[in-house]
Amino acid sequence: MADSKLIRATRVEPGDRPRLGARDTSDRLGIADKQAAATRLEDLVGRLALLQNRLWAEGTRSVLLVLQGMDASGKDGAIRRVFTGVNPMGCRVAAFKAPAGVELRHDYLWRIHAACPDRGQIGIFNRSHYEDVVAVRVRKLAPEPVWKRRPRHIREFERLLADEGTVQVKVFLHISSEEQRKRLQERLDDPEKRWKFRPEDLDDRRLWDEFQAAYEEVIRETSTDWAPWHVVPAERKWVRNVAVAELLVDTLERMDPQLPRPTFEELTIE
Ligand code: ADP
Repeated sequence: MADSKLIRATRVEPGDRPRLGARDTSDRLGIADKQAAATRLEDLVGRLALLQNRLWAEGTRSVLLVLQGMDASGKDGAIRRVFTGVNPMGCRVAAFKAPAGVELRHDYLWRIHAACPDRGQIGIFNRSHYEDVVAVRVRKLAPEPVWKRRPRHIREFERLLADEGTVQVKVFLHISSEEQRKRLQERLDDPEKRWKFRPEDLDDRRLWDEFQAAYEEVIRETSTDWAPWHVVPAERKWVRNVAVAELLVDTLERMDPQLPRPTFEELTIE
């Protein structure tokens, strides 16, 4: 059974403010300790693999996980950990960087729509169309009237996806500024991770409060019945992984994908 308490604790009800500043980024969401989280994650990963197989076999609907968060909030780590055990054939991962080339010759949702999962697939967005509101606003890449109207487009775009069979799970991985400082420093100090460090991330770090305010607003404006937001405390990686896995498994269990009925009678292979 799904952990409805965890789901309720992270969910932002339509119209509500996410109250990011009031949320404890190191909340355990009722999980006792790392060991309990590991056992639970193993179970969730197994269930996810089974459900994904059914979704694929059914072939009519899809799931889209949208991951947003500040730099070093653990988007890559969550994907790596939650999707171990899932058949890559049934997945589609897209990471969005600043638009370039042909992307700039279209509206901002063009590349997003093109990257949406096929029927039967689980799609994963590592960053998304929310950058076109939040990053564009905070870094002043477009004038206010341009980003201001986007949440309205996004609500309707996500409604289109939902109406056409894509169930969306939108997750904001929530960390504190101090935790980001530690993680960026680790990135710099670890030769295996150093390549991931981008000096531009420090510019964004200086704009921490502006980013938080922009997320606060866009999450409120775009948490809908058909595509609700979940704010996941992401300071403890084991809590983050269990929460993301739980949200996906709960979504798939409610979708209850059905295996196609065999078109043949009972057969024995000689
Ligand atoms: P990540 O931080 O996701 O691991 P990168 O270091 O390559 O990957 O960062 C991607 C960058 O692209 C982020 O700074 C993000 O804000 C930016 N980005 C993504 N989409 C857009 C967009 N639509 N407009 C502006 N910037 C964007």
